[in-house]
Amino acid sequence: MISYISFLALFFSFYTITPTSSTSLQDDFINCLHKHTNVDFSLEQTFFTPAKNVSLFTEVLESTAQNLRFLARSMPKPVFIFNPTDESHVQASVICTKKLGVHLRVRSGGHDYEGLSYVSEIEKPFILMDLSKLRKINVNIKDNSAWVQAGATVGELYYRIAEKSKVHGFPAGLCTSLGIGGHITGGAYGSMMRKYGLGGDNVLDAKIFDANVRGGGGASFGIILAWKIKLVTVPETVTVFTVTKTLEQDVGNKILSKWQVVADKLVEELFIRVMFKVAANNGSKTVTMSYNALFLGNKGMLMKVMKKSFPKLGLTRKDCVEMSWIESIVYISGFPSQTPTNVLLQGKSPLPKINLKAKSDFVMNPIHHSGLMGMFKELLKEDSPSMIWSPYGGRMSEVPEYEIPFPHRKGVIFKILYAHNWIRDIYSYMMPYVSSNPRQSYVNYRDLDLGQNTKNTESDFRKAQVWGAKIKSKVDPENFFRHEQSIPRLPVQG
Ligand SMILES: Cc1cc2nc3c(=O)[nH]c(=O)nc-3n(C[C@H](O)[C@H](O)[C@H](O)COP(=O)(O)OP(=O)(O)OC[C@H]3O[C@@H](n4cnc5c(N)ncnc54)[C@H](O)[C@@H]3O)c2cc1C
Repeated sequence: MISYISFLALFFSFYTITPTSSTSLQDDFINCLHKHTNVDFSLEQTFFTPAKNVSLFTEVLESTAQNLRFLARSMPKPVFIFNPTDESHVQASVICTKKLGVHLRVRSGGHDYEGLSYVSEIEKPFILMDLSKLRKINVNIKDNSAWVQAGATVGELYYRIAEKSKVHGFPAGLCTSLGIGGHITGGAYGSMMRKYGLGGDNVLDAKIFDANVRGGGGASFGIILAWKIKLVTVPETVTVFTVTKTLEQDVGNKILSKWQVVADKLVEELFIRVMFKVAANNGSKTVTMSYNALFLGNKGMLMKVMKKSFPKLGLTRKDCVEMSWIESIVYISGFPSQTPTNVLLQGKSPLPKINLKAKSDFVMNPIHHSGLMGMFKELLKEDSPSMIWSPYGGRMSEVPEYEIPFPHRKGVIFKILYAHNWIRDIYSYMMPYVSSNPRQSYVNYRDLDLGQNTKNTESDFRKAQVWGAKIKSKVDPENFFRHEQSIPRLPVQG
């Protein structure tokens, strides 16, 4: 049962001060904050403005921002950045931005694919509230739960759980630098989704500035201060593998075709995703497909499952590595082997920052051989495209689509993530092979094209938005929490 800290004060009407400059805006904001919080804050450590120290401002702005596209000079910048150090500062900030009539962006881990947590291309001026100093994690093994503040990363959460127990875990994202605040609001899938569902499915409670919602995407309904999550059981020993095949090795796409048939039907303990890349091949190019997996059990059990359900991959005992669950987190996120698990406390990703556009699709029927051949052609047109197929089924198909605002459940075989500049071509090529009416996408893979140049009709789009708009109209009737793709209010009747 979700309980709420509902600060009705947000919805009182306030007088508006019109600031004259960015310095006076910050001064007005600070004065207002003092009036609305009893917990003191150090200006030096919590406020960052280009006027005062441009290099420090840039360092803080860039610290967790993941997409280099939105750090370009030409991109609009916040007037200042505020790093609250107490939850009461967050509440006070909302009251004060409202009073001052300035737009607010909220950032937890900074992974938004369209940079919406640190850039506003539609509203000026805007300020950035960065929650990275609110990252406490309190794990309670006795009652199988943890409270996690929004600014913590999933990697830190996993580490803190494993520190207390070898047989507990949490089913959220594979990339260890994701912020808990933004990530869980949109669903949060990872390598245990087939066994336990999404991070969002395993939420017990939340501290939130007014919204009764998880799953529908962040920054439309309110601000998450912390999630209370349900821990899940993991075995002391898990097994991982990565088996890579080139196009030439997978003659007739036999392995990939079989994967499409079995991926969502394998035992729930097994998650095998496929990561596509383009690589050099004797003076020309080929596509590589890496079958990257986590099995919640030991090598012997995994070999039995694979022999029965997916022998085509040709997995051998040598390919399999047994380890603890927390070590598997480090492995799957892409850190070099033998990296100590306490790397997770640094809140960083092993991969370089991205500089790309992402899109997603859901596949309900296996893509046949000729469809795959056309898809490979599209991939080979580019130098370094990236595409990942993540299997569904298991727990994902048991949770009803209306349980939380994450409808991609029964019937989905796998989800596609496309990432790079070529994606608009391949996205259009893939249309006949993916979900339709409406063509579905993962809200956490933010894509501002949606609702604009997709082939969905306007009525599809409106239908999909209606439930959200009803909630929006109830919990945020003034549309304070808004961004380029936030959920709209219902039109006023009359
Ligand atoms: C490299 C990379 C890997 C990824 N891997 C996965 C994965 O394995 N699984 C998966 O499910 N997704 C994955 N994602 C997508 C990810 O879940 C989303 O980008 C998610 O929104 C990130 O949360 P964040 O806090 O890091 O992002 P932010 O950029 O901080 O926030 C994202 C959105 O949520 C809003 N928001 C942030 N904090 C709050 C808050 N406290 N309250 C309300 N709204 C808030 C922001 O304003 C913004 O609109 C990945 C993304 C990237 C870039």
